[in-house]
Amino acid sequence: MRLALTEVIHRPGASISFSECVDLSDLQYGNTNPVTEPVKAEGTVRNTADVLMMKGLITTCLHGVCDRCAGEFTRNVEIDLDVVLVEELSNEDSEDERVFPVEADAVDLEEVVRTVFVLNLDSKMLCDPDCKGLCCRCGKNLNDGPCDCQKEPDPRFAALRQLLDK
Ligand SMILES: [Zn+2]
Ligand SMILES: [Zn+2]
Repeated sequence: MRLALTEVIHRPGASISFSECVDLSDLQYGNTNPVTEPVKAEGTVRNTADVLMMKGLITTCLHGVCDRCAGEFTRNVEIDLDVVLVEELSNEDSEDERVFPVEADAVDLEEVVRTVFVLNLDSKMLCDPDCKGLCCRCGKNLNDGPCDCQKEPDPRFAALRQLLDK
């Protein structure tokens, strides 16, 4: 999907707004395709001293499997869009994940959204940011309540206790 930039290129102070839907349903994460719903990208491209700044918000509803508790979840996600568009990529720029090329006075919006989305995906693949995960000993889902496992004493305290016992 190409977003035309003719109105802002070489026009300091000019800006355009955009609101598009991008299809990322082919995006793989582990063995899943978590982005089954359209991804909405909206924001502005502003020419600030002849630098094109794209700012906005990427929103979608994610269907996935939690990295911590392995439970399925559905969650709305919002990711900040804050990138720079340049007409000529320097070597430095091509290593910067926040810099995207302008070709024929347009930018590939899908590529921008896909890259930003993937960079932010890891932290989003949780059913809840506070997911307690599974007990490493008995495997119980700790979001459903504590398990019956005894807590292992901290080895540092055990060593200290030995010293005190002497
Ligand atoms: Zn979870
Ligand atoms: Zn346990």
